[in-house]
Amino acid sequence: MDSTVTKKDLLDSRYLRMAQIWAENSYCQRRQVGAIIVKDKMIISDGYNGTPVGFENVCEDENDHTKAYVLHAEANAITKVAQSNNSSYGATLYVTTSPCIECSKLIIQSGIKRVVFGEYYRITDGVELLKRAGIECIQLECVDGKYIRKEL
Ligand SMILES: [Zn+2]
Repeated sequence: MDSTVTKKDLLDSRYLRMAQIWAENSYCQRRQVGAIIVKDKMIISDGYNGTPVGFENVCEDENDHTKAYVLHAEANAITKVAQSNNSSYGATLYVTTSPCIECSKLIIQSGIKRVVFGEYYRITDGVELLKRAGIECIQLECVDGKYIRKEL
């Protein structure tokens, strides 16, 4: 990061790095995605892409397509909050890849107010939807170990 980096950027980049490490838990072969939900500087949830509880940890079918019942990291993190005594209202979601449109709907409805992500997924309609809902979207792109902030 350059000299214009704020304390907030530094915290954002650290939480995003945690989401990146958390993505390593995923059994998915095609893409590993991790998510962390932070509220009042507390991590209230986490998730990575994978099959629902009780299903075998195989994300792809015999044709190497992702199974329809695989949950995305964001969906796993949000539904984990639903099982807890926490509330995602006003929280920030850190996710390694920009959210898809399905997850974006969940993000809006769960009251999350900020989304910080690493790489931009090729389909960007999810981020467009988040912006329409007034959710602050920030890309922190990692280039040579340094995070570059992009307001969206
Ligand atoms: Zn998704």
